[in-house]
Amino acid sequence: MRFAKNIVVAHRGAWKKNNLPENSIASLQEAVRIGCTGSEFDVHLTADDTLIVNHDDKYAGMKIEENTYAALAQTKLFNGETIPTARTYLLAGMQQHTTKLVFEIKASVISKERGQKLAQKCVELVKTLKAEPWVMYISFDYDIVKKVLELQPGANVAYLNGDKSPAQLKANNVPGLDYHYSVFRKNPDWIAEAKQNKVELNVWTVNSAEDMKWFIDQKFDYITTNEPELLFELLKK
Ligand code: MG
Repeated sequence: MRFAKNIVVAHRGAWKKNNLPENSIASLQEAVRIGCTGSEFDVHLTADDTLIVNHDDKYAGMKIEENTYAALAQTKLFNGETIPTARTYLLAGMQQHTTKLVFEIKASVISKERGQKLAQKCVELVKTLKAEPWVMYISFDYDIVKKVLELQPGANVAYLNGDKSPAQLKANNVPGLDYHYSVFRKNPDWIAEAKQNKVELNVWTVNSAEDMKWFIDQKFDYITTNEPELLFELLKK
């Protein structure tokens, strides 16, 4: 596998510049085409236990966890795509070896237990498809992060919620963090602490050139952005 070596992670795919739907296969393919090292997407569990790719916990006005995939899929994305299942999405992503698939496991709105079930189904799917080399997991739910590591020891997984220090993550064998940019303004010492502990550094969602430059200078491993084209421009300079 020869994945791209840059630091650019497209947030929900590369959708903005070309007006594609977020979290669509088209936005994933655009992230691949422009050479991003990663393309992020969000996964929820439907009422009938299908893993689907969407940001919000609602789709077309329907609560994802309370509706079947068939009911949800009746509404197409605005480019005509059917709302992707995680399986379809991973299979599309595995057609290439440029871009890693940054797989966000969403917390369940219904219960912690359902979040654990979602994590289990996500890891099972990745294993079934043999998608491990492509996948970097992320989650706001620390119990989901721990569940992924229990089910897939050594998995590449990063915590999103910004309330644990790099040393705490290291102590729990969590190999990465991916925090909102404001967290690093509040805790600037966490950058050095992450490097000392060999915890990978990612940041979301960095969309201005000024902020991008700051995180480039801080030598982050990844920068997650809605503007991957702009970040590539800055990295060329
Ligand atoms: Mg996300």
